[in-house]
Amino acid sequence: MNNKTSRRRFLQLSGSVLSAASLGMWPLNLIAGNSGKPTTYRVVIVGGGFGGATCAKYIKLFDPSIDVTLVERDVRFVTCPFSNLVIGGLRDINSITHDYSVLKKKYGINVVQGDVVDIDAVKNTLLLKNGKSLPYDKAVVSPGIDFLWNSVEGYTEKDVDILPHAWKAGKQTIVLKSQIEAMPDGGVVVIVAPPNPFRCPPGPYERASLIAGYLKQYKPKSKVVILDAKQKFSKMPLFTQAWDTLYPGMIEWVAGTSGGRVTEIDVAKKTVFNELGDPIAGAVVNYIPHQAAGAIARKADLTDASGWCPVNQKTFESTKHKNIHVIGDSAVATPLPKSGYAANSEGKMCAAAIVSELNAAVMPDPSYSNTCYSLIGKNYGISVAAVYRYDGNKIIKVKGSGGISPIKADDSFRRAEALYTSSWYANITRDTFS
Ligand SMILES: Cc1cc2nc3c(=O)[nH]c(=O)nc-3n(C[C@H](O)[C@H](O)[C@H](O)COP(=O)(O)OP(=O)(O)OC[C@H]3O[C@@H](n4cnc5c(N)ncnc54)[C@H](O)[C@@H]3O)c2cc1C
Repeated sequence: MNNKTSRRRFLQLSGSVLSAASLGMWPLNLIAGNSGKPTTYRVVIVGGGFGGATCAKYIKLFDPSIDVTLVERDVRFVTCPFSNLVIGGLRDINSITHDYSVLKKKYGINVVQGDVVDIDAVKNTLLLKNGKSLPYDKAVVSPGIDFLWNSVEGYTEKDVDILPHAWKAGKQTIVLKSQIEAMPDGGVVVIVAPPNPFRCPPGPYERASLIAGYLKQYKPKSKVVILDAKQKFSKMPLFTQAWDTLYPGMIEWVAGTSGGRVTEIDVAKKTVFNELGDPIAGAVVNYIPHQAAGAIARKADLTDASGWCPVNQKTFESTKHKNIHVIGDSAVATPLPKSGYAANSEGKMCAAAIVSELNAAVMPDPSYSNTCYSLIGKNYGISVAAVYRYDGNKIIKVKGSGGISPIKADDSFRRAEALYTSSWYANITRDTFS
């Protein structure tokens, strides 16, 4: 694609977020370096999940002349969205596994399998575990989350195969699913939900629902207990109403102040202790640890005291290091939630910000969206959606935008939302990986 085509494509594709009037600048490849030769800019992206893969694709769509490298430690990406369906026996893990072949072939993205161990923000270089380094003009960091292992006594990273978190999808998803399949009828599945902020606010409650769905069918004397550090949770009235309807007496939710806050774990006995010292034993214990930005973000000094990465909420450039942008779960993008949909939306806006800057254009104020479906039973879905915009200083929710499923709705409404959940998954993964 020549430079004119490239620029025309950027204008077409980014039309909704970048007004043509603001783009009175040179097309990218025509900006000559000191040698007089056209400069090819290099963008290197850490993490091929919802944020990173989307950003890589959209930079290439907006301006194919930019050299884009995506560094991902795994060969394939297993999505957390729909991993609860795998645990509940409604999906196969292969159906939520994606590779990078289309991003490579169709968009010309260099996909490097590797582990980024550090970022030199002075020399603009990424360091890989294999000793290689990758120079960049712009880096995008989208590593998701990592766990704060010492947030309760008695549980460490070594214990994840005994008490799986399954909060990163893949092997952990299968470990949790197998434990539930192997437990006796009449056993208790204990889910320990993390304190805010954490990835996917409705995730633990969707998980409890779909595990209850499996138990109702195969081990009907069993129960699910959710021990929660919090006093309330996302879409709470809709979840509790559905639990009463679909799984009466099967799911018990314990709030933080009523003994839900877990402070200690006896891994060998599969027993957790709340802050009152009460023991709660499970046939299966799904402990979801406290969370912070992905480890590489912390290593590269992109986090603040909160453990997350402060960013300019328009461009997602780090407020700590220039030319490094942080998107997805790791970034402080409140009020956007830590979701795959939000990470995808941020990936696009970040791509537009980078392409604008490299083209010496002014980026108009962006807007973002989030839609979050939760499946409570095979034919029972609920959702919440919102649109957000940048108000010149920070991201704010657009008043009156989006909405939440009505509490009063008939079976056909819930069934329709369950169908939309599958369409949502097909669309978001297509937009991100192909
Ligand atoms: C059970 C569950 C259900 C969920 N359901 C939904 C849902 O229905 N809808 C929704 O919108 N969201 C959902 N989410 C949330 C969603 O998964 C995350 O918000 C989303 O994945 C965040 O995108 P990200 O790019 O920040 O991180 P990720 O998508 O996790 O991608 C990060 C990638 O970076 C890689 N990586 C990390 N560090 C390095 C490194 N140093 N070097 C190389 N590679 C590295 C990782 O291997 C990973 O592939 C769910 C989450 C969970 C746990």
